Amino acid sequence: MATIGILGGGQLARMLAIAGAPLGHRFLVVDSAPDACAAQVAPVLQADWRDFAALGKFASQVDVATFDFENVPTDTAQWLTSHTRVFPNPAALAVAQDRLLEKALFAEIGLDTPTYAAVDSIDGLRAAVATTGLPAVLKTRRLGYDGKGQYVIRQNADIEPAWASLGGVPLILEAFVAFEREVSVIAVRSRNGEFRHYPLTRNWHRDGILSVSLAPLPGDPDLEARAVDRARTLAEHLDYVGVFALELFVVDGSLLGNEMAPRVHNSGHWTIEGAVCSQFENHVRAVLGLPLGDTRANGYSAMLNWIGELPDAKPVLAESRGHWHDYGKSSRAGRKVGHATVCADSPTELADRLRRIGLALGREAQVRPAVEVLTS
Ligand code: AMP
Repeated sequence: MATIGILGGGQLARMLAIAGAPLGHRFLVVDSAPDACAAQVAPVLQADWRDFAALGKFASQVDVATFDFENVPTDTAQWLTSHTRVFPNPAALAVAQDRLLEKALFAEIGLDTPTYAAVDSIDGLRAAVATTGLPAVLKTRRLGYDGKGQYVIRQNADIEPAWASLGGVPLILEAFVAFEREVSVIAVRSRNGEFRHYPLTRNWHRDGILSVSLAPLPGDPDLEARAVDRARTLAEHLDYVGVFALELFVVDGSLLGNEMAPRVHNSGHWTIEGAVCSQFENHVRAVLGLPLGDTRANGYSAMLNWIGELPDAKPVLAESRGHWHDYGKSSRAGRKVGHATVCADSPTELADRLRRIGLALGREAQVRPAVEVLTS
């Protein structure tokens, strides 16, 4: 029995603790929020990331530390390495925290990216627009997630409002990509360098927040092989240990790197019921130095994210292989409060289940893109 420390007490920590419990492991979570939802399944030490006395106490009680939240200050992560084992390593965390460093790393490993430029002033923004063209997306380099800290510049008249909205912190301007689709590789690397990946996942976002994931994708093994190859190179380059996600845009059959998440990822939630061993269990296995689990899919799965508030669970639970996840959070606009995963043995069977759920919940628009792919 080991105790795994998790920095951050959101739904990812909660699902890690749930996955690790059958293996006999304990968890200790650090979070500054009094109502962290992981507290419902694991003990939480309520403390700030800079409270080194509390972190020392935390480190003395755990065998290994990992992250639910990628924006834990890197000096905190670094400090922890002299008190306990920390996976993934703080250098990997640092790269993933800064969109500029991340894009430079993608270029280094041979992964193309949207055209981009660093922005630190209004004049710099004008010059960057000349580089990327319009439309373009202005993003904060750090601390952005779920579409927060982003401003789409469609015309020159948007430049000043974009700067007024986000200026004052380091920014990056990216060309707006008219992608055919968004995909992610969820992969895991062990402490001795073994690499495994789940089938490529297709993702649909709404207002910058993940709405639906679908895996495995019917067809295109070549695209998958190229995406996985980049993910493997990235993991080896960073000497990464644990689960991570590489989010990619597909444009004219080519892959462009959008971002990496140095942790278990929302687009991998389908693996809880849809794969032999889930991303959460595999992360636990990886950080503890245990053999990795089988990443193959059990049939076809779709994950529907519940944002803001939970709909009625019954239409999902009424379906064979319909699974419900309530994170135990209060409702709030834009907040991830739960998800459903629906699995099936064939694409058409999954499409039928999604259609019924969409209709019953009045969410036909949410399920439609996945249904179209499954029936095309
Ligand atoms: P991010 O937080 O950067 O992953 O952005 C959230 C979502 O916004 C992405 O998954 C895309 O759907 C969209 N997005 C972000 N950057 C771009 C871009 N350069 N071009 C087009 N869409 C983007």
